[in-house]
Amino acid sequence: MPKAVGIDLGTTNSVIAVMEGGRPEVIVNAEGARTTPSVVAYKGDERLVGQIARRQAALNPKATLFEVKRFIGRRWDEVKEEAARVPFVVKEGPGGSVRIEVNGQDLAPEQVSAEVLRKLVQDASAKLGEKIRDVVITVPAYFDNSQREATKQAGEIAGLNVLRVINEPTAAALAYGLERKGNETVLVFDLGGGTFDVTILELGDGVFEVKSTSGDTHLGGADFDQRIVAWLAGEFQKEHNFDLRKDPQALQRLIEAAEKAKIELSNASETTISLPFITFDPETRTPLHLERTLTRAKFEELTADLLRRVRQPVEQALADAKLSASQIDEVILVGGSTRIPAVKRIVKDLIGKDPNESVNPDEAVALGAAVQAGIIQGDSNLGDIVLVDVTPLTLGVEVKGGMVAPMIPRNTTVPAKKTEIYTTAENNQPGVEINVLQGERPMAADNKSLGRFKLEGIPPMPAGRPQIEVTFDIDANGILHVTAKEKTSGKEASIRIENTTTLDKSDVERMVREAEQNAEADRKRREKVEKRNNLDSLRVQALAQLDEQAGASEEAKQKLKAAADEAEEAVRSDDDSRIESAQKRLEEELRSFMTAAQQGSQAQASAAGPQAQKQDDDVIDADFKPAD
Ligand code: AMP
Repeated sequence: MPKAVGIDLGTTNSVIAVMEGGRPEVIVNAEGARTTPSVVAYKGDERLVGQIARRQAALNPKATLFEVKRFIGRRWDEVKEEAARVPFVVKEGPGGSVRIEVNGQDLAPEQVSAEVLRKLVQDASAKLGEKIRDVVITVPAYFDNSQREATKQAGEIAGLNVLRVINEPTAAALAYGLERKGNETVLVFDLGGGTFDVTILELGDGVFEVKSTSGDTHLGGADFDQRIVAWLAGEFQKEHNFDLRKDPQALQRLIEAAEKAKIELSNASETTISLPFITFDPETRTPLHLERTLTRAKFEELTADLLRRVRQPVEQALADAKLSASQIDEVILVGGSTRIPAVKRIVKDLIGKDPNESVNPDEAVALGAAVQAGIIQGDSNLGDIVLVDVTPLTLGVEVKGGMVAPMIPRNTTVPAKKTEIYTTAENNQPGVEINVLQGERPMAADNKSLGRFKLEGIPPMPAGRPQIEVTFDIDANGILHVTAKEKTSGKEASIRIENTTTLDKSDVERMVREAEQNAEADRKRREKVEKRNNLDSLRVQALAQLDEQAGASEEAKQKLKAAADEAEEAVRSDDDSRIESAQKRLEEELRSFMTAAQQGSQAQASAAGPQAQKQDDDVIDADFKPAD
């Protein structure tokens, strides 16, 4: 059976891991790196993913997409503010969803994330020497239903079989707890590029039981970067009366410089940000430069409110688990942003102990996902590991007066199923609309609507008589399925979902097809580039032989030179059929040239004696073959 892998699909970086001999291991990508930037760029009809995409971001800001995880499964009205901060175009899509406009085409965030997943899996398949299809993907614990569903769909669009979607902190705890023996209460503090999660678990005897989870899906390292961006842009505006954020290229450079400065400040007390030629003076057209020194103290001042925001979810998670800080045995830090010294300080302050540094914050999540993949595949090395996770947010329905009637409270163990009976508010009401909500607020309007279900065809009855049975069913992925049925009439009515922001089945199918076509186009493009490169390297070899084989006849040399010239023109023309015929001709000419050269030198050698014979033997034996 081909191996299943675990994927940490991060806001900033992604990691893929697999079980090898009973231990999870990170798989390096094609570039040899353990993490892959979650960046996708569109350049003409080419798509670049990972480091190569990230590197060209400043030159291609409108078509280089990053932090797309912030938009996945979201409603437009939830992300408007974040959309305004990125250099590419994020806009409202069908049904209040989010779309990213690139080169006149609207992309769903799921499609963009699918590109990252595809690269991770393709590279891993090449490394493992087997085609991977089965994956476990992690999501922030605090992701709601549509964000989970959308992440799963991203996997499907990438042609993958998503075995399970698991929570990032739970995955990190799995990686941490695999080697531990005793009973422990662990708090996982996960501050990544775009999201913040806190999870409290009890570990012992192979059981990983999540007690509570809390977080903030709008808080991560990028918010810290933005504070530096705003400060730099503000200072620059004061000096030059020009807002750099209005220029996408300058904005992209600011964002990159801000992140670099932030990372440097994790190890240094001050750093210099230098962006020469950031823009031109609008009046004099002279180039303007930006140079500023940022101290760690100033950085902490700029981000003081963000640092304060991590407190509440920690306190909430402790309260929900009915634990005090002193009952936490270990604190595990996950996510790159936990390297910020002020973040570590706050964690220590909140829990009263130094965090455990034994896990690598960048890799723990993917490693844990690989463990989960191993568990699902029945990896015999793992023994009996049981993972008990919870749903992060309360699920309910809207009732009269715009209130929420909770069905499944937050931190309920999943999978979970709950049925409640509702009724009508008016006489002879022919149908009801069931608004499914997720969130902690008492009024429906303040929570996230996951979808509206219409139950129609209720026979005329006085108000309060119909028995409408509503069932909420959360699967192991934390994804919700809702059904409704009217009992008094004995008749089951159909349910229609409207207004969900996730893609419907036909959209996903279309995107899978498009992605497959793109993959085919990518393969063809790669083949084309390889053909061109092969011909070019054969040409270089031919020219080298022309120099080296002095014994060849003038005629043979001329023929080979002509074939090499033709190859050069074919490479420049980029015309497939010219490249193929030039390759054939050059291979033939090179072969006859080598034979002629060998014959020529043998003739010379028999005239010159044994010493020369030996040298020429080296030439004859040389390992010559056309480029692969
Ligand atoms: P993750 O989603 O876990 O890959 O975390 C990525 C975030 O961590 C990004 O916002 C990075 O800028 C941030 N990050 C990575 N390394 C450091 C560091 N040494 N200091 C501060 N932030 C960091």
